[in-house]
Amino acid sequence: MKLTHIFTNEIIPGRIFRIPEQPVNVMLDVTNYCNNRCRFCYNPDSKFYKNDTPKSDKLKKIVTILGDTGTKEILYLGGEPFSGDTIEKLLEIGSKFGMFQRAVSNGSFFKDVGTCLRLKKKGLDEVGISFHSSSSHTHDEIAGREGAFKDAVAGLEYCIKAGISTFVQYSPNTLNMANDILILAEFLDKQFQGEISFFDINRLLPLGMGSTDNNIFLEGDQWFHLLTTATRLDEFGYKAHAELTPFCWLDSMAKKHSVSRKILEKIYRLNRGCFMWVAQLPLDFHGRIKFCPAGPAVGPSILDVKWPAFWKEWEEFNDYRSFLWNNKCIDFNSQTACQYFYRCLGGCKYSKGIHYETDQYSQGIRLAVGA
Ligand code: SF4
Ligand code: SF4
Repeated sequence: MKLTHIFTNEIIPGRIFRIPEQPVNVMLDVTNYCNNRCRFCYNPDSKFYKNDTPKSDKLKKIVTILGDTGTKEILYLGGEPFSGDTIEKLLEIGSKFGMFQRAVSNGSFFKDVGTCLRLKKKGLDEVGISFHSSSSHTHDEIAGREGAFKDAVAGLEYCIKAGISTFVQYSPNTLNMANDILILAEFLDKQFQGEISFFDINRLLPLGMGSTDNNIFLEGDQWFHLLTTATRLDEFGYKAHAELTPFCWLDSMAKKHSVSRKILEKIYRLNRGCFMWVAQLPLDFHGRIKFCPAGPAVGPSILDVKWPAFWKEWEEFNDYRSFLWNNKCIDFNSQTACQYFYRCLGGCKYSKGIHYETDQYSQGIRLAVGA
């Protein structure tokens, strides 16, 4: 998703972006049910959350409205999106509108090649299968279900055989050896010989159920070492993206650990931008607006407002898009911003569990450039 067309380079509140008429990319929770119980899951452990069940008709309406109003990409999340039948109906609808449809899954509901062929026919373009470790034992322990690793590998195999584009959704954590990601890459490369498109690396945050398990998250030096190790995924032919970390922090960590410019540039290339509320929009299964897929709803349902007019008009969206809340990365007085601004936007705006604040690692403007 190239978004350079939305950057105006005008460092003036309300004029930083050319906001598209509708979100380019929507992340939609299909369900809150999951047969795994991952230790770091960001979904809440409350009765209220679990008893709040999705309605198929509502979800179908949401995808219809999105498709009808020009959204081009949709990412189905959960819970486990393939644990029920609704996903198939949603894929059919999305496909009618020509949307690019991808999902993240634990793989366990891809029972055979036939299931995957059917999903592909209905419109599933790409799937990310979640891996938490190269060790089946550790993966199962983290996922809270024996056989979870085996299911993930089998799911991957069936999707590949059905011709669905696949990637690995990797969740690095402290229960793995430092080079676990490379061991997994080698294993999958041997199994599937270049069939997997890329590795997408999660930056886990202590939210929801995961907030009670603080020891599992990589922090500071550990996260930086993971990113450094991930630059070697290209040795196995993989492209890789990692969830956003501020460029200013990467610079200072590279200095601290004497990492070469060449490796630092490779770490920069891993950095996947996050454009929530600018071009991307996460929704829960009621269609309610979230700021981050990892957080709760903070706005009304798109079914209860005039859509997509609301996308351009809602005060909350416009407050966020003004960036007046961010005095670390932008100086409106001098109309200058950090040189990385459009690639970074202040890093993860949910890393402190509050929407929206600059990243916990943000160090503030460096090498500010004129607008
Ligand atoms: S935009 Fe902000 S957080 Fe990102 S590199 Fe620049 S100063 Fe750091
Ligand atoms: S706000 Fe942070 S956690 Fe949420 S999608 Fe963006 S980078 Fe990821």
